[in-house]
This record gives sequence, structure tokens and C-alpha cells, in this order.
Amino acid sequence: MAREEADEMDSAVIEHLKRYEPELIAIRRDIHRHPEVAFEEERTAGLVADCLRSWGIDVATGIAKTGVVGTLRGRRAGGRAIGLRADIDALHISEATGRAYASEVPGKMHACGHDGHTAMLLGAARYLAERPDFAGTVRFIFQPAEEGLGGGRAMVEEGLFERFPVDAVYGMHNAPGLPVGAFATRVGPFMASSDSWTTTFHGTGGHGGAGPHLATDATVPLGHFVLALQTIIGRNVPAIETAVVSVGHIAAGDFRSPNIIPSIVVVRGTARSYNPAIRDLLERRIGELAHTLAAAYGCTAEYDYERRYPPLITHAEQTGIAIAAASDLVGVDAVSADAPPRTGAEDFAFMLEKRPGAFIMIGAGAAPDGSYHNLHTPLYDFNDEILTLGAAYWVSLVGKELG
Ligand SMILES: [Zn+2]
Ligand SMILES: [Zn+2]
Repeated sequence: MAREEADEMDSAVIEHLKRYEPELIAIRRDIHRHPEVAFEEERTAGLVADCLRSWGIDVATGIAKTGVVGTLRGRRAGGRAIGLRADIDALHISEATGRAYASEVPGKMHACGHDGHTAMLLGAARYLAERPDFAGTVRFIFQPAEEGLGGGRAMVEEGLFERFPVDAVYGMHNAPGLPVGAFATRVGPFMASSDSWTTTFHGTGGHGGAGPHLATDATVPLGHFVLALQTIIGRNVPAIETAVVSVGHIAAGDFRSPNIIPSIVVVRGTARSYNPAIRDLLERRIGELAHTLAAAYGCTAEYDYERRYPPLITHAEQTGIAIAAASDLVGVDAVSADAPPRTGAEDFAFMLEKRPGAFIMIGAGAAPDGSYHNLHTPLYDFNDEILTLGAAYWVSLVGKELG
């Protein structure tokens, strides 16, 4: 990396954080050994709160059940406040890394690196508590339940930003495959929305061999519906926009009775997009197809569209600050300011709906042959090599925002 471009102060930050490295690795691996899934992160939240208190940081616990917020005021007067957010939850995956510090909880694993995110933010908290040479307030936001249950939304709905006001909020995620020492971000839509939908077709059912003409067959609209869904992408979504609609589950009939026409067919799927207007379009068109195709074949349909995670949309000013903070550490060439949008969803989006902010990917690297274990796989492990760089990014960001 173009380290020579890093100024002296930032080199000093990294040098200093290197002294915490063994402790940060120990914290990260401790959390890794004891993974806790959404809203069950009691032990992890306790560890975070104990660390913050031991460094003299004000701590509030129990926000959205297991969320923790640390508040640190700078030595210099200043009215601005910023939030730095890490997620703390694990996944329902059985770990297969065979590491000495592998999960001790069957079926649960830190397979998204939130153990590392937590340790990186703790490293920054310790550094800043020891050197509060900034003007204003830093809030360290440790968020539960990022994976699927919307802990970010729960914190916002429980008054996160009313109880702990901030002018801007920042998030970070590790990215396997992106080189160590690289960062990537973008202005505007960065991560997809992630919604679920369910359609239930109701017919009368009947005898599939002796009396199909007497039945209204709920499998017929299902067949048309599955194919028609892709016309939303091809015919309704403008060509310069993008979206995904997929079927993930179909349930009908009884496998012991292939001669019976089912009276109920349930089909469920996901929908993703990067633009709130396209999200509205998907919700509307999936429902229109369900109802009109049901009617075309004498059936009825029930339709439910569940808005789970909004698209993650970053703000220009704060993304510029994030890019500057990362560039000071690794050089401007190692920071991608216009990274392609990613198809994953991220519930930091709920915080960005309420406050301006930015989200950045930190490179977690790959093997020399370019291979890597991706997030959410049983062989994934957070790369401890980037713990101090991640912590230094947060410190650098505070310098840019509250310097
Ligand atoms: Zn994840
Ligand atoms: Zn994650």
C-alpha cells in the first residue's frame, strides 16, 4: 500500500494501536468462541460494556434488548456528535474452520465477521478514551441482530438518536476478496433492499384423475406466476435500474397423493432493489400478478409483502469524509470511491434513513491464489490482520469529523 502517503499522525495512530493488537485479537477470538445470535447477545454485550467502562467511557445497555452505546466526550469543546456503529451478532451456521478458537456453540458461528467489527470498534474506543484529543462527542454504537431480525431498526425505534443524538453516523463491514489495506465505498445506493413476499393461491382442489374439470386448480396460476415474475425485471424495471425477484419456497399438496389437485398453494420469495421507487414497483407488480393470474384461472390469491431491510443509501458529504479518513491510512489509490453496489443487505440502512452517514468496506484479503471463504460460509473466519487498521480507520474518521 502507499503507506508513504500516510501522514505522520496516522502512522502514529497505527503504531499505537499495534500495541493493543494482542488484546484485540484475544477479544475477537473470545467473542468468536462464544457466538450469540440475534437479540441473544447477552455475553457479548456484557463484554463490550465491561471493556468500555474499564476505559472510563459512559455506557448505556439494554437498547433494543442487547444493544450497547458508549459515549465519550472530547477534551476540547465542540457541539458536534458522531456515531460509529459495529454489529455484534452471529449466525445459525455450523463452523468448519477447525481453528483453536472455533465456535463452542453447536450450530452457531461468527461467519460474517461481526466479532471482528466489535473488536475494531473497541480498539478505537480504547485509543480515543486514552487520547480524547477531539472536539465534540463520539457515540460507540454496538448493535444487535444485524442478521435478519433488524436490530438496527429496533435501536432506531427505541429512540437511539433521541437518547444519543448524533449529527452523522458511520458503519463498516469487512470484505473477503478485497485486498488487505484496501477500502471501498460509494455515494448513494450501496447495498440492496431485502424484502420477503408470500402469495397463497386458493382453488377448490379435486380429484386429479377422475375430475380435474370439476376442480379449480391452484397449481395453474402458480406455474404462470413463477414465470411471470421475471417479466417484472425484463418489462417493468427500467433497463438502467436493477432488481431481483426470486422464488425460494413452494408448498402444495401431499407427496403421498399425487392424484389430488391441491386447493392451496403457497409460494414465497425475496425481492431486492437499490432504489425506493423500484422497491415500490416490485411490491405492486408481484401483487398484481398474483391477483390477476389467480382470477384468470378461477382461483383467488392472498398476497403479503414484508418490507425487511431498505436499500443502504450513503450520503455524499459523509462518504467524502470516510474516503479521506481511509486515504490518510492507506493512500488514496487504495480507497475505491466508486465501488459497485453489492447485492447483500445491511440493516445499518435504518440508521442512514435517520441520519446522514457513510458505509465503508474494509478489505479482508484472499489467499495467494485469489481464493477466499466468503461471508456466511462455514469456513469463513475474520482476518485478524486488519483489526488495527479497522480501529485506525475509526480514529482517523473522528479526527476528520471532530478534529
Ligand atoms: Zn452477514
Ligand atoms: Zn455482516
